Amino acid sequence: MSEETIFLRIVRGEIPADIVYQDDLVTAFRDIQPQAPVHILIVPNEPVPTAAEVEPSHEPALGRMFTVARRLAEQEGIAEDGFRLIVNCREHGGQEVAHLHMHLLGGRPLGPMLSRRA
Ligand code: AMP
Repeated sequence: MSEETIFLRIVRGEIPADIVYQDDLVTAFRDIQPQAPVHILIVPNEPVPTAAEVEPSHEPALGRMFTVARRLAEQEGIAEDGFRLIVNCREHGGQEVAHLHMHLLGGRPLGPMLSRRA
């Protein structure tokens, strides 16, 4: 998979996005097609294509993604009621962008974790 994804270009500031948080390890921005009242994507600044390719060297960034998710959930007012964190991986996981990302979703009851098979 190519490293030159749209998310890497957002991290670098090369294309516009609604960035809500950025530090040395991660960047968070609002999803362009929100699935819930709050829908934020949190990505490592150094691209990791998929969750199937994570290495021990990625642990600082991956850990930071969780603490930033907590901080943003509090900031967005969804921490108390609860929220969902999703990382889709490759084809069966429904991953569309090959730069690992965590979805932070909340602001309404989100229903069952998986849609049932027809
Ligand atoms: P996934 O299916 O887990 O790979 O999720 C990719 C997500 O990225 C989708 O929810 C898209 O709506 C979102 N997305 C794609 N392009 C952009 C963009 N330029 N800015 C913000 N979100 C985006």
